[in-house]
Amino acid sequence: MLEDIRQISNPFVKAITSGFFLSTLVTIPATAAIFLVNLKNESAYKFIVYASIASATVGAVGGLAPGKSKSKASKTTEIETDTTDWKDWRKFVVDRKVKESDSITSFYLRPLDEGLIPNFVPGQFLTIQLDIPEQPKPVIRTYSLSDYIQSGSYYRLSIKREPAPPDTIAPAGIASNFMHDRIHEDSIILAKPPSGRFVLDVHSTQPAVLISNGVGITPMISMAKAVSLLNSQRHIWFLHGARDGSLHAFRDEVNAIAASNPNLHIVYCYSRPNLTDQGNYQHKGYVDADLIKNVVAPEMQKLCGSVEAEYFLCGSPSFMDSLRDGLRDWGVPDNKVLFESFAKAKPKKSEQVQDLTHEEDSIEIVFSKSGKTLNWSPADGTILEFAEANDIYPDHSCRVGVCGTCMCKISEGEVDYEEIPSASVDSGSVLICISKPKTERVVLDI
Ligand SMILES: Cc1cc2nc3c(=O)[nH]c(=O)nc-3n(C[C@H](O)[C@H](O)[C@H](O)COP(=O)(O)OP(=O)(O)OC[C@H]3O[C@@H](n4cnc5c(N)ncnc54)[C@H](O)[C@@H]3O)c2cc1C
Repeated sequence: MLEDIRQISNPFVKAITSGFFLSTLVTIPATAAIFLVNLKNESAYKFIVYASIASATVGAVGGLAPGKSKSKASKTTEIETDTTDWKDWRKFVVDRKVKESDSITSFYLRPLDEGLIPNFVPGQFLTIQLDIPEQPKPVIRTYSLSDYIQSGSYYRLSIKREPAPPDTIAPAGIASNFMHDRIHEDSIILAKPPSGRFVLDVHSTQPAVLISNGVGITPMISMAKAVSLLNSQRHIWFLHGARDGSLHAFRDEVNAIAASNPNLHIVYCYSRPNLTDQGNYQHKGYVDADLIKNVVAPEMQKLCGSVEAEYFLCGSPSFMDSLRDGLRDWGVPDNKVLFESFAKAKPKKSEQVQDLTHEEDSIEIVFSKSGKTLNWSPADGTILEFAEANDIYPDHSCRVGVCGTCMCKISEGEVDYEEIPSASVDSGSVLICISKPKTERVVLDI
């Protein structure tokens, strides 16, 4: 009961409730005692009234005082949800490890210190740090939060094992394979607080279309769950593409949410379904703009009276490119289409040609902490790629300007961004994973 009162966010309601609670605690036993001892004593009744008023006042004042601990239940869908002192790396224990499909495994994390963990806005991610013995420095990666619960007692990450690309000698993915093979229940990993701007406003009333393929499903589960929990009147279309059922993670989980929320509409597309997949998917083929025009839009028109919606995309770069182009061609404004890339798209041919034409323009980059001054040319790629090619290994994670891990101070010169950073960038700092030098000399605190 005390914990319930502590979690009331409105101070006046909290004061009244605390006062009532304390007064009840004092008055009931006192009345019972007087009834047992002396029924007719008038001053005893006066005592009960005074005690009741005094305890109500004390309770109300106590209720107005700021609580010692931050409320676990004060949930909000604003981006700033961190009500704890957690700012940097914090230890988390893997509570459960659950296989979701042939390639995706979920990790349930709870804080080792057993303290509170802040709620997050659906769509946000955690940045984790892994100590991998063979790696020269800790490996930092970013993973979307793939679940949504109200009690805020754990976080779930769902990680796809990244195999080595076919026909190359390139190694398999470092962090994802380490997580799959060498992180088990009771293992400890470090994590930073939830972050990210690819978020869904749970309380909006506009229909939302969540579109994913592969492991891009992770933020969508969190979004679908949060809306079903907090704003189930809102219509959500959940479109997901997979090759076949064996690679389709979370089907039962999403089906279960839809079973309890009639406003969550599911469309699964399998490009190469197996015979055993019969009945588990709605369309054979890919999720594309035609599917939205021909299947989702008529249903949306019927249910919502309009086809105006917000679109959320997460999946392979080619999948997102084609959907963004398709939605734009269909007339959906760009500001209604939010997307998150998990990986950097390969440069287009036209961009490679353009880079080579500038190859002779040499620019100086000073990596001040490393004591190296090097000449950069456009073929060297981003500043991060250039640093790595020269045995400088700055912290980084996403390589797409989303997580902010690679942010560093710039004391001279300017950079050009390949794309607008999604992470917020401090003044006097730059994200090196998506930038190239703009001026003849750039000095970075790396
Ligand atoms: C905001 C955000 C959210 C994300 N959420 C998720 C999520 O929910 N689930 C998830 O599974 N992932 C997610 N990711 C991706 C994740 O952060 C990692 O990028 C992913 O797990 C791969 O990391 P890795 O260390 O295993 O692979 P890396 O070691 O980083 O390698 C990446 C790929 O490159 C290949 N490769 C390595 N070296 C070479 C080379 N020399 N030449 C060619 N290819 C090479 C590897 O084989 C691998 O396929 C997210 C990313 C972002 C930015």
